[in-house]
Amino acid sequence: MISFLDLKKINEPYETAFQEKLKSVLENGWYILGKEVETFERAFAEYCHSKYCIGVGNGFDALVLIFKGYIELGKLQKGDEVIVTANTYIASILAILQADLIPVLVEPRLETYNINPDLIQEKITPKTKAILAVHLYGQLAEMERINAIAEKNNLIVVEDCAQSHGVNANSNIFKSQISNSGDLARNLKSKINNLKSASAYSFYPGKNLGCLGDGGAITTNDSELAKVLFSLRNYGSEKKYHNEFIGVNSRLDELQAGFLNLKLPNLDTDNEKRRTIAKRYLAEIKNDKITLPFWDFSNNHVFHLFVIRTENRENLQEYLTQNNIQTVIHYPIPPHQQKAFKEWNNLSFPITEKIHREVLSLPISPVLNDLEVDFIIEVLNQY
Ligand SMILES: *Cc1c(COP(=O)(O)O)cnc(C)c1O
Repeated sequence: MISFLDLKKINEPYETAFQEKLKSVLENGWYILGKEVETFERAFAEYCHSKYCIGVGNGFDALVLIFKGYIELGKLQKGDEVIVTANTYIASILAILQADLIPVLVEPRLETYNINPDLIQEKITPKTKAILAVHLYGQLAEMERINAIAEKNNLIVVEDCAQSHGVNANSNIFKSQISNSGDLARNLKSKINNLKSASAYSFYPGKNLGCLGDGGAITTNDSELAKVLFSLRNYGSEKKYHNEFIGVNSRLDELQAGFLNLKLPNLDTDNEKRRTIAKRYLAEIKNDKITLPFWDFSNNHVFHLFVIRTENRENLQEYLTQNNIQTVIHYPIPPHQQKAFKEWNNLSFPITEKIHREVLSLPISPVLNDLEVDFIIEVLNQY
């Protein structure tokens, strides 16, 4: 069986180093907010071309704390509306709600699975105060357009980078890759991590940069926001037993930070391996029944997932299973049709619904080998 994502194989090369790291943390005898977290925060900030990185408990908390931070700074207020793509993973939407803000769903583009900037303006009301841009499946959302809309309407832009570690890391490579695939490609080309915004990362084991448990981080260039966030994640206290804000306990674990310090140096190489596989899928899968995802072949995609569309999805998934290829559906039910959101169940988002009906994620990861890719392509072409 070709597994969808072989996490054991991904972490195997680090086994000895992980054990040494555990030993060193044990010898240090300091388990919360120690040297490993500090080192990781410095390294990850630099990697993301950001001034600050704040390690937190998970990706969901990273999003919630960004919103809470802006509320503490008076830049957002409870009840403000936040624009978000309707087909995102539910965590993006739950995080907005958790911060007492109101998610406003906008349809994505069928080609990129990311929010369609053409549809944002009509959803903006006097209560709209932010856009949560999700770089879904690892592809950069159309940040140039999104930032322009935000600027025009005086909105904060927050980025959900839980699936896109490294997409904005090499901004110089990014800028030098001039693609010729038209307007859509040009729209995608923009440097993110701008001065006013903040980005949320998850280090859940299956993400492009994953630890051995839960973990997350926020990056930002905003020193005021960073100061509030360093405090909010730690009971709202910067100085022990002096509480400035109503904070939470959401700290990146010292041991997990230690593991991440070992894995971060390989993130670019791992993402490049994912892109190499994506290139082969795009060039070699030739089947009228399968729609391949849009990519302009620049570094604006880190292929957390390779998501195809097909009309008779259950049929294709069953065929692949019979051929020993494991696939996953990201995601089977759109957020607005979930039981948890009863008041949205009658809303209609045709593009989102089509995506949730037709998408199927093929295996893609730094440890998927050439023979496995050959086989997956061959099986798909015979479908
Ligand atoms: C994984 C994910 C999150 C949440 O991250 P956790 O670490 O699981 O809390 C948020 N948004 C998106 C798009 C994700 O894929």
